[in-house]
Amino acid sequence: MGQKSVAVIGAGIGGLSAAAHLAHAGYRVDVYEKNAEPGGKASVLRASGFRFDKGPSLLTMPFVFKKHFEELDAHPDRFLHFERLHTNCRYLYPDRTIINAYADMKRLAEEFAAKTKDKRSSINSYFERCKEIYELAADIFLFNSPLITFRTPSSNSLSALTHLGELGVSRTLNKMNSMYFSDHRVVQLFNRYATYNGSSPYRAPATFLIIPYVEFYFGAYNVDEGINSIPRALYDIAKKKGVRFHFGQEVTRIIHEKHRIKAIQMDNTIVDHEVVVANSDVRNVYGVLLEDRNSPMARMYRHKEPSSSALVFYWGIKGNPGDLQVHNVFFSNDYQKEFRDIFRNKKCPEDPTIYINITSKYVQTDAPNGYENWFVMINAPYMAGQNWSAETQRVRKTVTEKLKRTLGIDIEKLIVYESVMTPRDIERETSSSKGSLYGMASNSITGAFMRQQNKSMIYRGLYFCGGTCHPGGGMPLALLSGRIAADLVMKGEK
Ligand SMILES: Cc1cc2nc3c(=O)[nH]c(=O)nc-3n(C[C@H](O)[C@H](O)[C@H](O)COP(=O)(O)OP(=O)(O)OC[C@H]3O[C@@H](n4cnc5c(N)ncnc54)[C@H](O)[C@@H]3O)c2cc1C
Repeated sequence: MGQKSVAVIGAGIGGLSAAAHLAHAGYRVDVYEKNAEPGGKASVLRASGFRFDKGPSLLTMPFVFKKHFEELDAHPDRFLHFERLHTNCRYLYPDRTIINAYADMKRLAEEFAAKTKDKRSSINSYFERCKEIYELAADIFLFNSPLITFRTPSSNSLSALTHLGELGVSRTLNKMNSMYFSDHRVVQLFNRYATYNGSSPYRAPATFLIIPYVEFYFGAYNVDEGINSIPRALYDIAKKKGVRFHFGQEVTRIIHEKHRIKAIQMDNTIVDHEVVVANSDVRNVYGVLLEDRNSPMARMYRHKEPSSSALVFYWGIKGNPGDLQVHNVFFSNDYQKEFRDIFRNKKCPEDPTIYINITSKYVQTDAPNGYENWFVMINAPYMAGQNWSAETQRVRKTVTEKLKRTLGIDIEKLIVYESVMTPRDIERETSSSKGSLYGMASNSITGAFMRQQNKSMIYRGLYFCGGTCHPGGGMPLALLSGRIAADLVMKGEK
C-alpha cells in the first residue's frame, strides 16, 4: 500500500500544526497557502526600521507550544524562547485610575484592594471559581475532541460531563463578574476577556472565566523574536518532518462526489486528494470552497453571528511617551455601549477601548534607537457594508484625542511611520470571512459550545483546524486544533 497523503489548505498556526503531526506519523503532506509566507493572521510588517507583529500580540499557554515540539521529537528550546511578563497589562481608566495587572497573584490582589472598592478576598474567591471551571472544561473543551471524548470518555471527562451545569453556562460573563466584584472598574477589566474570542461579555457565557485563569495562573509571555517567530518555528519543524509547502497557491474549490472528498482545485489545476484538512475559515469552506451554497451547513453558517474584527494602527513613535508597559488598555466610559456599537450597530465604537502593545520595550531591535513600535488596536465590527476609509479616519481622530486626554501628550506629533489594517484587509490577507478574528462569536451558549468539530460529519475525508473550529480562536487553541485534526485523520474517523 502506498503512502497515505493529505492536503492541508492554509499555513496558519492550525495548518502548520496539523501538517507537522501528520508528516511525523508518516503521511505525505502538501500544504497549499495563498500567501507567500506561512503565519496567516500571525504575520509580520517591517517598514522604516520598525517591526510589527500584524495580528496576535499576547501569548498564553506556552506549554502547548513546548508540547508540540516534544510530540514531534524536537527540543522546544531549539525553536522558540518565551519569557513570562511581570505585569500582564496596565489598565488606564477614564477617571485616571491606573491598575497594573501583576502576574504575581498576591501583588495583584493588593493592587485591587488599594485602588478599587473590592477586597483581596473577592479576587481570591473569583480565581477559585475560574479554576473550578477550567478544571471541568479543559479536558473536553480545550485539549481533546468531544467527538472522541463522548465515545470513549475518561474518568476526567465523565466527571466534566456530569457537572456541565457548573460550567457557568446559565450566566453571562458580565453577570458572573458582577457577582464577585462591586467596583465597576474591576468588572470591566474581567469583562474584557470576552474579547479574547471576539465576543461580548454581556452575551457570552461565564464559562469564559477560563480565559483569565489561563492568563494569570499560567502567565502571559513575551516571545524573544516576536510573535511571528511562532509560525516560523512551526514552519521549520514541519519542513524538517518532510511537509511540502506550496506558497502562492489559493485553493478555489474542494471537489467531492456524493459527499466524499476527491480533489482540490487551484485555478485550472486539479490535484487528487481524498483527505483534506482545511485551515481556512469554516464559513468559507462550507459557503465557497465546497460549492454547496444551499447545503444545510452553508445555510447554517450564513446565519451564524461572526466574531468581532479589529482596526489596527501600526505607528512608529518618536521617543517613549507615556508611562506605558508592553501591554496597555485605555478603557472606554461605557463598556456596554461599546459592545452595542460593535455587534448591534455594526460600527466602530464612538468611545472605543484602546489596546496598545509596544514590543520594542522588550525586543529593542523592533524599533530604531530612540523610537518605539506601537500596535494600536480597537475592537471593530465584522464587515457589514461599512465605509472603512471613513471609519478609519473617524477612529484615528478619536484615538489620538483620547490618548492626548489620558497621557497629556500629543501622540499625533510623534508618529513618524503609519500603516493601518482594517477588517477588509484582514479578510483579504487571511481569507477570514467578514474579517472576523475568531470565526463565529460565542455570544450565546450554542455559539460557545457548538463550534465546528475537527472532522466533518457530512463530507467524508474533510477535517478542520484553526481558530474558527474546535477548540476555538487564539494561537494556543489554533495550535491544539491542528493536533486534534491530525489525530482524527490518523484514527480514520471518516
Ligand atoms: C489583530 C489580531 C489580534 C489578535 N490577537 C491575538 C492575541 O493577542 N493572542 C492570541 O492568541 N490570538 C490573537 N489573535 C488570533 C490569532 O491570530 C488566531 O486565532 C490564530 O493565529 C489563527 O490561526 P489559524 O490556524 O486559524 O490560521 P489563520 O491565521 O487564520 O491563517 C489561515 C491561513 O490559511 C490561508 N488560506 C485561507 N484560505 C485559503 C485557501 N482557500 N487557499 C489557500 N490558503 C488559504 C490564509 O492565507 C492564511 O494564511 C489575533 C488576531 C488578529 C487578526
